[in-house]
Amino acid sequence: MLQIALLLLLLLTLIYIIKLKRDLRLARRKQPDLQNFYSLHDDISGFPNKYAFQRQLEPILKMAPEQQFALILLKVENFDQINQLLGHSNSNLILAQIAQRINDRLAAESKILTFEYRQLQPVRVCHLGSVDFAIWLDVGSQPARAEFLAKQLQQTVPQPMLVHGCAIDYRLSVGISFYPEHSIQLNELLERAYLALQHYQWQRGASSVFSAEMINYTTEKLALMAELRQAIDTDQLVLFVQPQMHMQSRQVLAAEVLVRWRHPQKGLLAPEAFLALAEEMGVIYPLTQWVLEHAIQTIASLSAQQLTSRIAVNISSKDLLHDELIDELELLFAKYQVKPQQLMLEVSEKTLLAEPVRTMGMMQRLHQLGIELVLDDFGTGFSSLAYLRQLPIQYVKVDCSFISDLHKTEAHLAITGAIIDMARNLGLGVIAEGVEGAEVEDRLLRMGCHRAQGYWYSQPFDLSGFPAWLRQWQHRHPLG
Ligand code: C2E
Ligand code: CA
Ligand code: CA
Repeated sequence: MLQIALLLLLLLTLIYIIKLKRDLRLARRKQPDLQNFYSLHDDISGFPNKYAFQRQLEPILKMAPEQQFALILLKVENFDQINQLLGHSNSNLILAQIAQRINDRLAAESKILTFEYRQLQPVRVCHLGSVDFAIWLDVGSQPARAEFLAKQLQQTVPQPMLVHGCAIDYRLSVGISFYPEHSIQLNELLERAYLALQHYQWQRGASSVFSAEMINYTTEKLALMAELRQAIDTDQLVLFVQPQMHMQSRQVLAAEVLVRWRHPQKGLLAPEAFLALAEEMGVIYPLTQWVLEHAIQTIASLSAQQLTSRIAVNISSKDLLHDELIDELELLFAKYQVKPQQLMLEVSEKTLLAEPVRTMGMMQRLHQLGIELVLDDFGTGFSSLAYLRQLPIQYVKVDCSFISDLHKTEAHLAITGAIIDMARNLGLGVIAEGVEGAEVEDRLLRMGCHRAQGYWYSQPFDLSGFPAWLRQWQHRHPLG
């Protein structure tokens, strides 16, 4: 009896040990599964990550490159602003939703690489990290399909999302590279798609497909921007100045400073050669700081010579996103003992609408400081009357393109007349820019515009010659 009981106990212990071993084995097997999931998926969106992309593509890339594929890269633009507005956890939710939306749009595209299925839904988008997504498309013999699909996604994915009552708007940028045409290695394909995307961002409307000349072009641009940063510190920038007149009395009302770059190899560069790029690559703010300091210093030095002229500085709408601008201006006014009323800031209408709310806030603060604000290139943007009414501006500057040919066509005349009337109705002063002759001046005066700037009075010239020019001008055109 005892023997039977012992045997039974032994048997039970054996069964228990076998079961324990099996459970451990199962648990061990389960844990790597979980680890595996996390190592292959993005922890914000839950979509396959770059590593999963690599793993899935390895066998395809090793295939003899007879088939054509496209790597389509998608980047969410302005996401840092969404981040600032909503905070990290909310913006992570938005990012996950964007990923889901892209994937939903791909449900019917059977030519796209499928990573896995979730509840019978194919997962076809890879979250490369940050705000970047990738898709791998079998284009067959029709490479144009890649751009077509990318455009479709750009149009259909970004619909505003409602978060805490705010409608969140975003756009998608695209870059495309082709296998095997642009490379047979994933890293290189990705690099090239990123390059194409950067170009697409620089030149809106340009193709989003990689091309070989982008490599040189980009290196050149990057080098130019690195040089520009140095140029600011080493005083290679120079300021020109162009006076602004009261047409009838020929009194100088203000003077606009215009930046140039005395490049050691390339010579004197016009603003068009570097400003747009400086804006895109975040070099504009240090440039503006440099210009502002020199402008305020000029106001002080003019008054030390018993000369007065307001100085107008062009600022980029990107500068208006820098909150520190106000403090820095206050420091400069204090340092040079200059009144803010002596400074004018010109902001181009063309760029103002990119960030209407934030720029408006900053313009209000500049206005409260006492600085006069000018809406530059007026007539070329698309500001609504309602928006214009809210802007704390004192002047609009009618763009050269309307003024220089004013006397040649009735259409230009009518448009300029309408712009002047509109500005007057809003209670704003009008400055005509690009006056090149007496006939235009005469027409403007008859239309009720009294302030002008242009070659007719003076071409822009080196700022260092401004006090002498001003003295001579005042001598030739005495008051009264
Ligand atoms: P803008 O502010 O509209 O400046 C007027 C431009 O028209 C200047 O070109 C000036 O030389 C030119 N101009 C003046 N009078 C006449 C005229 O009678 N006829 C014609 N055809 N043109 C005339 P510039 O100096 O090449 O500047 C081009 C643009 O570069 C400026 O346009 C402004 O948007 C930008 N810019 C210049 N300096 C700065 C700066 O310091 N900061 C920023 N953010 N932008 C600047
Ligand atoms: Ca201007
Ligand atoms: Ca202008």
